[in-house]
Amino acid sequence: MKQRIYLCLAHMSGNEQKFIQEAFDTNWVVPLGPNVNGFEQDLKEYVGENKEIVALSAGTAAVHLALLACGVGPGDEVLVQSFTFCASSHPITYLGATPVFVDSENDTWNMDPVLLEEAIKDRIAKTGKKPKAIVPVYLYGMPAKIDEIMAVAAKYDIPVIEDAAEGLGSRFDGQVCGTFGEYGVLSFNGNKMITTSGGGALICADADAKKEIMFYATQARENYPYYQHERIGYNYRMSNICAGIGRGQMTVLDEHINHHKHTYELYKELLADVEGITLHDNPSERYDSNFWLNTITLSPELRVKGEDMAYEAAVSGAVGGAAGVTHAAESLHTDCEPNRNIEAMRMALDAAGIESRPLWKPMHKQPVYKDAPAYVNGVSEALFKVGLCLPSGPCVTDDDIRYIVEQIKAAIVR
Ligand SMILES: *Cc1c(COP(=O)(O)O)cnc(C)c1O
Repeated sequence: MKQRIYLCLAHMSGNEQKFIQEAFDTNWVVPLGPNVNGFEQDLKEYVGENKEIVALSAGTAAVHLALLACGVGPGDEVLVQSFTFCASSHPITYLGATPVFVDSENDTWNMDPVLLEEAIKDRIAKTGKKPKAIVPVYLYGMPAKIDEIMAVAAKYDIPVIEDAAEGLGSRFDGQVCGTFGEYGVLSFNGNKMITTSGGGALICADADAKKEIMFYATQARENYPYYQHERIGYNYRMSNICAGIGRGQMTVLDEHINHHKHTYELYKELLADVEGITLHDNPSERYDSNFWLNTITLSPELRVKGEDMAYEAAVSGAVGGAAGVTHAAESLHTDCEPNRNIEAMRMALDAAGIESRPLWKPMHKQPVYKDAPAYVNGVSEALFKVGLCLPSGPCVTDDDIRYIVEQIKAAIVR
């Protein structure tokens, strides 16, 4: 029996246990210590640009603290890419602020700089206030048009928080994504480019910014011999054990990125002659995606076997269901869902032991955000209906990819 092929599973280097053992041996089993410092140093050297790093308990925590540091509070608005995972926007609501969603452009699938400027002008006209921050995302690892986004941000003097949770090691014009804005968010969840089992980090501009983030990440304690609190803080620091895993993972970061890029090359070669299927690609030489997830789009005309069965039965375990953490679906359909041929392809691959997943559903189409303002051009919604993520992680072999493409071809009605 062939082993199931997953999108992106964690892959250990073998060096993790040494760092964890050291933590136990030296009794640093706490949310600070030599591994935390070492991991931050490794990341600092990796991202360059004279940045500082704070290791945190999750990427979501990094988004939350970056927003806090940008002064986001109740009644404020934050401009955020709509085509993203919910962790880019949820923390805006934690602070009592309102996300204002901005749609994507077709080249990178990330925040459209033109629409961003329209949104800024319109928010100022409508509310009399500037949005407090801009959150572009490097979806599936693809660099955004960050030069144009930074130019718009500078024009209106609004800080940028880059959500590089999926884009660790991606580059734009040779510069590491997450180092262009005021803050950059990284994630080390189990399915990301590298993992600390769960964790994240915030890339900060300088030592002062780092100090402020550390303050809020450790319950905002004032400098007294007793606990004195003048602000609300959070318990968001990374543990020294998780950071030990992170140090081990840093020894294979380049290897992982190269492997993801290799899976892209192989998909590109094998899918080249498959009519009706397009692999998402770097728009030009300036973009250097880490290809965290390879994604394809299916032409609506492409007929896939089993389309008549698509959406006929409620799924269990499609996304996040494995751990039993999802609510049961209330209906088989929503008012915005992938085309039948996408669902049929997902089911065909699933039956062949291959995990695939529709593109992330845009936040402006999520019921929980139905009242949030959105600046929309149709791009993310159209992509959501035609796109699928394919296995791309370090455990996916060349043979796996040949098998996946064979199964994709076999599912097409010719
Ligand atoms: C994974 C992810 C996050 C959050 O990271 P966690 O470590 O899972 O909290 C944020 N934004 C995007 C786009 C992500 O994919």
